[in-house]
Amino acid sequence: MSLKDIKKIIAIASGKGGVGKSTVAANLAMATALEGKAVGILDADLYGPSMGLMFGLNNDVMPSISHGVKIASIAQLSPAEKANAWRGPRAAALINSLLNVVEWENLDVLFIDMPPGTGDVQLSIIQGCKLSGAIMVSTPQEVALADCIKGIDLFNELNVPILGLIENMSSFICDKCEKEHFIFGKDGAKNLAEKMGIPFLGQIPIEASLMEGGEKGLPAVLANPNCTGARVFGEIAARLLECSQ
Ligand code: ADP
Repeated sequence: MSLKDIKKIIAIASGKGGVGKSTVAANLAMATALEGKAVGILDADLYGPSMGLMFGLNNDVMPSISHGVKIASIAQLSPAEKANAWRGPRAAALINSLLNVVEWENLDVLFIDMPPGTGDVQLSIIQGCKLSGAIMVSTPQEVALADCIKGIDLFNELNVPILGLIENMSSFICDKCEKEHFIFGKDGAKNLAEKMGIPFLGQIPIEASLMEGGEKGLPAVLANPNCTGARVFGEIAARLLECSQ
């Protein structure tokens, strides 16, 4: 069964790298699977594929299955230590083969972990499959938001609906004094969503368990379901499943 048989294909995108897009993709996919849906992740972040690590994959089968989630990664097409210094046409060709080769079978939702930025590879993905929509991830500070706006513009230009914006690393709660620290500023992404008239999906704090889950191959929604981030991911997954797109 190919991409066209999948009920929903959702791109997880960010303008900037390092804002937690892959962490969001992994936990949102896991939370959606915990809602009883058949879920897959296509790791198309060719500059820093991380789903293998985040789900503890150790084979080259495409798709591999981890914690019930089917995963195929661009990393499976090249040796682990390779820098993937591909020029546009080669990168686009690899993305196209990734989109067309994997047999997903009966998926309710496929999440695509997009590479950061707005270029050749992003265009190949958007034009290579029928996206139901895109979820943008940004941290609250201006340098990330400015790139996020460009990402939103790319999807708008190509008529892909923006399903919403997630603010990651919103704040840090001190485990000694319980004070909430807004390390990267307060509500930056929330305010941007309001200004641009797009749905705001939620705020994920900085939590050690979100980082640790990613390193151990066990997403935090499974490893530590009571942490704030895990609870917010659960709420976002439920909301997305209610959405008709
Ligand atoms: P991106 O996909 O945008 O490059 P990643 O998801 O790989 O970003 O996240 C970058 C780093 O930040 C990773 O080490 C990840 O574990 C960590 N991280 C992301 N979000 C959080 C968070 N909310 N709390 C703690 N660590 C986080």
